[in-house]
Amino acid sequence: MWLARRCALALPIALLLLGWIGFAGARPGGGSHYSGGSHSSSSSSSGSHSFGSSGGGGGGSVDLPPWAVVGFLGLVVLIFVLSAVFKKRAPRAAVAVDAVAQHAGIAALQGHDPTFDAAKFAERTRAIMTRVNEAWLKGDMGPARPLITDGVYVRFQTYLALLKSAGLRNVMVDWRVVGAELVAAESDQSWDTVHMKIAGEARDRDVPANLSAEEAQAKAKGAPLEPYEEVWSFLRRRGKHSRDGVPALEEKCPACGAQLPASEVVRCDHCRALVNSGEHDWVLAEITQPEEFDANSEGGSQQLLESVRAHDPTVSRQELEDRGSVIFWKWIEAQATGERKRLDRFCLQAGRPAVEPARLSEVAVGSCEAEDAPAIADGFDRVFVQLRWSARVDGAAPVNMLHRLTLARSSQAVSKRGLASLDCPNCGGSLAASDDLKCRYCGEALTGGKHEWSLESILQTG
Ligand SMILES: [Zn+2]
Ligand SMILES: [Zn+2]
Repeated sequence: MWLARRCALALPIALLLLGWIGFAGARPGGGSHYSGGSHSSSSSSSGSHSFGSSGGGGGGSVDLPPWAVVGFLGLVVLIFVLSAVFKKRAPRAAVAVDAVAQHAGIAALQGHDPTFDAAKFAERTRAIMTRVNEAWLKGDMGPARPLITDGVYVRFQTYLALLKSAGLRNVMVDWRVVGAELVAAESDQSWDTVHMKIAGEARDRDVPANLSAEEAQAKAKGAPLEPYEEVWSFLRRRGKHSRDGVPALEEKCPACGAQLPASEVVRCDHCRALVNSGEHDWVLAEITQPEEFDANSEGGSQQLLESVRAHDPTVSRQELEDRGSVIFWKWIEAQATGERKRLDRFCLQAGRPAVEPARLSEVAVGSCEAEDAPAIADGFDRVFVQLRWSARVDGAAPVNMLHRLTLARSSQAVSKRGLASLDCPNCGGSLAASDDLKCRYCGEALTGGKHEWSLESILQTG
């Protein structure tokens, strides 16, 4: 999100080159349908164009013998065939590791966390990849929730629900974590961020949901074994120090070490810590496709949110973008299911903004960017979150859209929970699976923006 935001300049250029293909995908992380293959088809079509203009007969300025025309035609056919094969088998884009950025990132982190160890972090990333893949394949991200932010969790869960509503599920076989390596790291006044290049391979297919496990596996076995790379970005509250082990992988609280309840509960019963907020340990906060990642782009702007920061010094772009992501995916789900109750608890006012039902598939986010919004003296702070995304609508070719979410929050509220969106902001009650407008434990209203950034309006801007 914030990461893709920094790639916002590179993105339009890349999209022009790529013919703006979707960000869609079924594999966890959403990358398996993302492809740069259009490069090869565009070069072959320009080849055929030059043939047409020189050998097109009639007013042609060059006379060619028949054998040359036939030979040339044969060559064009060959180019088309080769380019089709190449397009199909084009390897996924790779993430370039820049040693300067890598060392600068590690040094910046070690400056305030001397025990940070890049090799140990790579091991940890591999273990988390495995946990995320296993949860995805079971169709329930609950067991991975302590390790991922609410924004990432809602994205996965919504994607699984969309597949299900289309009568599909994603099956992945022969998958393997190939490696993980730190590509960049950064710190701002609120958060430490580590960007990890991850490499994996898998055969994956979307299959009808009613297939038996054996039939589904057989279908996936027929898919090519495809390597892939992505950038997984982890966040942790600045000021925390690295320790050995990953408590959340062992169902333990990263704050006090107590045993956590199984499943998707992320609140420690013992110390009340919110396990996946980034306040206590690293959490997976974003997954970026290689085509969009740029390790050398500039860091986050501290100028952002100045008007909000005047009375809430802890507000951060990262929390807004995670919140924006949760709300975006709830909005997608509301359109796809025709049930806006999924969205209402995240709105400033239940029932607003209006949501039109839409048949959406292969929904994927390209970037998510928090921006300042003009101040209005009505007791609320406002920010914009810009979302660049793509989807198939009614099964048509993927289209690209830009939407601006206006989020509002009471000017009395402060950011105190790290990255957290789904559970009650008042009592901490577990509400991840709830559509209720009031907390079922303490009765606090979840709409209204009293505690949390809430959706006021959505505007399509592109
Ligand atoms: Zn605890
Ligand atoms: Zn509550």
